[in-house]
Amino acid sequence: MSMSTNDLDTVFDDSWGEHHRSGMVAVVGRPNVGKSTLINRIVGEKIAIVSPKPQTTRKRQLGIYTTPDAQILFIDTPGLHAPQHKLGEMMVRDAESAFRDADLILVLLEVSTAPGDAERMMSERIAELHGETPVVLALNKADLLSGDELTAYAVANSALFPFAAKRQLVSAVTGEGVPDLLAQIIELLPLGPRYFPEDQLSEASLRFIAAETVREKIMLHTEQEIPHSVAVDIESYQERPDGTHYVSAVIYVERDSQKGIVIGKGGEMIKRIGMEARTELETMTDARIFLDLRVKVLENWRKDEKMMSRLGYRPPKEDE
Ligand code: GDP
Ligand code: MG
Repeated sequence: MSMSTNDLDTVFDDSWGEHHRSGMVAVVGRPNVGKSTLINRIVGEKIAIVSPKPQTTRKRQLGIYTTPDAQILFIDTPGLHAPQHKLGEMMVRDAESAFRDADLILVLLEVSTAPGDAERMMSERIAELHGETPVVLALNKADLLSGDELTAYAVANSALFPFAAKRQLVSAVTGEGVPDLLAQIIELLPLGPRYFPEDQLSEASLRFIAAETVREKIMLHTEQEIPHSVAVDIESYQERPDGTHYVSAVIYVERDSQKGIVIGKGGEMIKRIGMEARTELETMTDARIFLDLRVKVLENWRKDEKMMSRLGYRPPKEDE
């Protein structure tokens, strides 16, 4: 695949029908519940890229699932379950931001055990934060139980999430229930275009991962000051013949004051964000990364676009 990355307009695929659905799904669940396994199962066979190095110790999982009728962007939301994050407000803020951008929240629970404090806390948070965004429950590890026991645990876990639109027993390991889960997710997603054409999926995945990684570092280090008004646009992502990846990104904020915060005193903050994002991307891609970051003020960008602007792609013009 060629890596010409400059013309964003050509990235938009217009070969989708009026019934096509698409959107971003925030995947939530505590560690070990099976998020990686599930995302790999869903995305792995289809396009092979979740992160370029699957099955590593990476916590974050991102994946694009494409069928003729739908495209789903799965994104892990570390705020609700990553122990390395500061707890409290930070956690809520991350989750809020992930939920605000998501078109659907997929909650993974382990149906092989009774729900505990972690699940109760998660349920309270999601109840507070999901707003209009539909919530789907995946009751994972259903292969470990059967009969009455399975039913009892399924009921106990589901009962904590009365606001969920759908519930589905699945096994990420055997694949049981996964097609039904996907069908339910797709049904709840808005009508919309295919964001990434099939032949550009791996490039799109790299861009998506790069943008999300930079955004995560911003959220992590800017505390309260930068709420939800950050968008990261990967202007270009080029793989050079020598294997080096050149990534050029623009961080959009809504106000001058926010620009100052992201850049920091003497450029300290932006350096830190860049260095951490670069290190993480190098681990994921196994390549040398040059990451160029710039910060621009764009007032009210979130009023026009949601996912599109976040990913750096433009919506079709009115007359198209
Ligand atoms: P994550 O921390 O939520 O990403 O969880 P992982 O995907 O890394 O899975 C944690 C462990 O649970 C791994 O050993 C998986 O093999 C196992 N696991 C995940 N899904 C299932 C499932 O459906 N059934 C069984 N039996 N094990 C599972
Ligand atoms: Mg995982």
